[in-house]
Amino acid sequence: MANLAETEFALTPLPHPTPTPADVREQILQAPGFGSHFSDHMVSIDWSEERGWHNATIGPRGPIPLDPAAAVLHYAQEIFEGLKAYQQADGGIALFRPEANAARFNTSARRLAMPELPEHIFVEAIRELVRADRDWLPTVEGGSLYLRPFMIATEAFLGVRPAKQYKFLVIASPAGNYFKSGAPAVSIWVSQYTRAAPGGTGEAKCGGNYAASLVPQAEAIARGHDQVVFLDAAEHKWIEELGGMNLYFVFRDGTLLTPALSGTILRGITRDSILTLAREQGLTVREDRYSIDQWRADAESGELVETFACGTAAVVTAVGKVCGHGADFTIGSGGPGQLTSRLKDSLVAIQRGSAPDVHGWIERID
Ligand SMILES: *Cc1c(COP(=O)(O)O)cnc(C)c1O
Repeated sequence: MANLAETEFALTPLPHPTPTPADVREQILQAPGFGSHFSDHMVSIDWSEERGWHNATIGPRGPIPLDPAAAVLHYAQEIFEGLKAYQQADGGIALFRPEANAARFNTSARRLAMPELPEHIFVEAIRELVRADRDWLPTVEGGSLYLRPFMIATEAFLGVRPAKQYKFLVIASPAGNYFKSGAPAVSIWVSQYTRAAPGGTGEAKCGGNYAASLVPQAEAIARGHDQVVFLDAAEHKWIEELGGMNLYFVFRDGTLLTPALSGTILRGITRDSILTLAREQGLTVREDRYSIDQWRADAESGELVETFACGTAAVVTAVGKVCGHGADFTIGSGGPGQLTSRLKDSLVAIQRGSAPDVHGWIERID
């Protein structure tokens, strides 16, 4: 097969001998949870130094053969993305800003010394998977089909250098609400661990960042909190982000602040969308540094009235309480504030097709 980047792209469909029976699927879709159930199909595309991208298929989801010496298993050469397909108000299905995920995927690929995937192939692979598994979209409130594109180094070689073979895969998982409790506001633990250092991989969406966040996250849970907030690695002072969500602070005068993209913060697409929506609504949003001490002082003085986290999985989540690093404070009333709810509603309305899409963020699937 010719190099896919240079020819018209098409996935070869493989037959599915045993798709999930409709009644079993319906049962799952009534309470999908997050990340524990999967649709019937997956996309798979290989890359090698000689052939570039080739062997593009959409077929039954299942185990993949992997040599025990595959580089990903030893040196964690892996990147991923996360985006959702949403049921639209008119009954159709749409993706939200998939090109932004495609571009970020390639940013991550460059940092992890992996081959870039042409953006149109990334987006088309996702569209095809959603078409194949359109019956897997939950109809429950807040439900969506979560899509997980990822790339792994498959070459069997234990030397330390970029691998010469990779596999790009896309799987799909029906999702309900991300936070199990469905809590209106989460409690945050300020971690002594750091997530990302200058010059490291904090700006790349790679599995290794998440592996390093598991101990701090478990520590937060053990202390009765929902999530971790990480401070910067150099001064241990500046607020960066949660393990997988960006942060926004809302002040009494109605202005917003989000930590500036410093190279150690993941460039969230939800963060960027909220920045756009807030400015459009006439709000002043600053991208700047904000210290943990100032956060506490502002919450205690009433200068800070709301804080929220944002990301594809949970969209927008209010932060109610902050603990650790000598801090123990409540934000506002401890529940979701007005602006948090308003921005969440604005974003969700666009994602669900009940508000006009003036930015061209919505990509319908036919
Ligand atoms: C994926 C991710 C986010 C959120 O990004 P979205 O594009 O909004 O989903 C934030 N922080 C980290 C570390 C992430 O991996």
